[in-house]
Amino acid sequence: MSVETIERPITPTVASSHVSTMKAFVMKGLDRVGFVEKPIPVPGPFDAIVKTTRALICTSDGHTVHGAIGPRDDLTLGHEAVGIVHEVGSMVTRFSPGDRVLVGAITPDWLDEASQRGHSSQSNQPLGGWKFANIKDGVFAEYFHVNLADANMAHIPDEVADDAAVYCADMLSTGFLGAELANIPIGGTVAVFALGPVGLMATAGARLRGAGLIIGVDSVPQRQTLARSYGADIIVDFSKEDPVEAIQNLTGGQGVDSAIEALGSDLTFQNAVKVTKAGGTIANVGYHGHGDFLHIPRLDWGVGMSEKSIVNGLCPGGRVRMERLLRIIQSGRVDPTRMTTHTFPFTHLDAAFEMMDQKLDGIVKPLIVF
Ligand code: ZN
Repeated sequence: MSVETIERPITPTVASSHVSTMKAFVMKGLDRVGFVEKPIPVPGPFDAIVKTTRALICTSDGHTVHGAIGPRDDLTLGHEAVGIVHEVGSMVTRFSPGDRVLVGAITPDWLDEASQRGHSSQSNQPLGGWKFANIKDGVFAEYFHVNLADANMAHIPDEVADDAAVYCADMLSTGFLGAELANIPIGGTVAVFALGPVGLMATAGARLRGAGLIIGVDSVPQRQTLARSYGADIIVDFSKEDPVEAIQNLTGGQGVDSAIEALGSDLTFQNAVKVTKAGGTIANVGYHGHGDFLHIPRLDWGVGMSEKSIVNGLCPGGRVRMERLLRIIQSGRVDPTRMTTHTFPFTHLDAAFEMMDQKLDGIVKPLIVF
């Protein structure tokens, strides 16, 4: 991956409200990223413009640059951010300039058919609620645009720092979704496959949902340690033992009530099906970016009659959910900032992106400070 920087004069400013252009970190075609100057966006009547204060790089930003949504020219990357409201449209009622806000990674339309059916993240097509760095510019810029601001932003409580709140945009929401979808009985047994940021928050979510035994599966020591701090009782290192066999042994041969797939690999998905007991639930929140098919192991799925449910979902958006997630941090139940292994200024986002893309230096989550 090559990094390009465009040298352009910074627009002279009289006052910040008169700045007309901003710096943005963009995808410049397949496998290429760099900084450009762009106009500061303007809001429609229901929208807001947010001045970015903190952002997080996501593994999926790397997927995008490597072609997950095809080639794009100068598409601003990033979908996890918090900031200060800079400007609101005439119909926005809940927010005013100066408010400190969290913005969801997924910003649904809310009035579309899928939302009416209760699937707001999907909007008018599968994954249609995903707009940042997909169908419009993302949040790796000094300012970014938020559609339907009243529904897609949340006020950040005074007690919650930006450094923590920014995790609610995607990581808490997606990880907790894994635990929510997994239908965990109080005291039940759970296996979490892959302990990246989503798996770590799925682990924390499983504990919040009342799991009695949480088994985390990963080989990276730093992630294992974090998983224990978020509630994993036992770690299975798949590089040292067969995870299916290990989980069967740990559960007296019964398997787990719930398995959470937080990686996005066919093998891991199959293992999740294998370790789940009859009547249990396999919750998939991993992004499956390769191959034409996922394989369900036929016998382990009880020849199609084991009452094992396979469910999946995309990070839910919405103000009400974000307010709940922020409350979890406010009350001290989960501290997501332990996942911040690296911090970079916005001007060094190129270096941070490279490090995240290559997963260098034990990186879990890089925080970008604006
Ligand atoms: Zn993300």
